[in-house]
Amino acid sequence: MELDINNFKTFQNPKAYTFEEVACYQCQSRSFSNLLIGQDDLTGRKGNFRYVTCKDCGLSYQNPRLDLDSVKEFYDNDYIAHRKKTDWGILTPLYEWAMNKHDREKQKIVSRYLKFNESTEILDVGCAVGTFLAHMKKKHNCSASGIDFVDLSAHPNFSNINFYNGVFSETQLPRAKFDLITMWHFLEHDYKPAESLAKSYEALKPDGRLVIEVPRLDSFSYELFKERWPGVQAPQHTILFNKNTFMKFIESHNFEIVDYLPYGAFPSYFYLFMGAKFKKLQGRGVDLNKVIVPYFAGQLLLSPILLFEKYLNLSMQTIVCRKKSS
Ligand SMILES: [Zn+2]
Repeated sequence: MELDINNFKTFQNPKAYTFEEVACYQCQSRSFSNLLIGQDDLTGRKGNFRYVTCKDCGLSYQNPRLDLDSVKEFYDNDYIAHRKKTDWGILTPLYEWAMNKHDREKQKIVSRYLKFNESTEILDVGCAVGTFLAHMKKKHNCSASGIDFVDLSAHPNFSNINFYNGVFSETQLPRAKFDLITMWHFLEHDYKPAESLAKSYEALKPDGRLVIEVPRLDSFSYELFKERWPGVQAPQHTILFNKNTFMKFIESHNFEIVDYLPYGAFPSYFYLFMGAKFKKLQGRGVDLNKVIVPYFAGQLLLSPILLFEKYLNLSMQTIVCRKKSS
């Protein structure tokens, strides 16, 4: 049977998956039009996942979505954000350089909005193995905390960083403690994004900053790859934000926007390279060990263009915001 986006029964999903209907995360409407069918292009796990666009407010999101128990297997050891740095053989130094660059880019962004010292409190939501926090600690000796729903507390990075294991919005955190809360590619994975923003509001100091980076649906790389766009990242991604829906979502949850950036710390090149691979492989999954050499070679080739990535709306977006003054 052909996949028919209008008929979820034709999606041929494994019986072990449980799906749940969701209302729009922004306006609770249940009226939508179909956007695309996404697959797990990175690892090639089976499944067809539908993304829709709300007819009332324009937000795009997965619907029905895979329930939390079913989605867990998609966050296993293959998940790139959780890989330990020693997994890459002789290319480990190059991989480390790229990962460190990613953390340096994050630091560059947040440093424009806050001054850091020993008394600064940072919380990174969806921190994975905590490399950003470790970088900030090394650079500024600030006090660092991280939270992730995968238990990564045994990782050596957490010897001097507080680690909270669990769902962010359900975690007991001190009120008004943090000067900076960061969500680097967290919110688009979230099953309770409104609750996470409420939790951030509660945990942030009155003059603190919340920095949120997500993929950008109305970007060049989405136009290029559509349902094979790496930003779909089905089924982990629950929401696909464009610029308007992203700003509206943040503003309607008690935050005011300090700055909107049409880029992020995450390298746009990853989306260009992986999108091309995903298009070629049509859902069969990418062998990361085989693509790491072409990956870095392509990056070198494209480096003259990538110098301008902050101006080209290639793939990412970041919002820096603060609590709304009442
Ligand atoms: Zn809506």
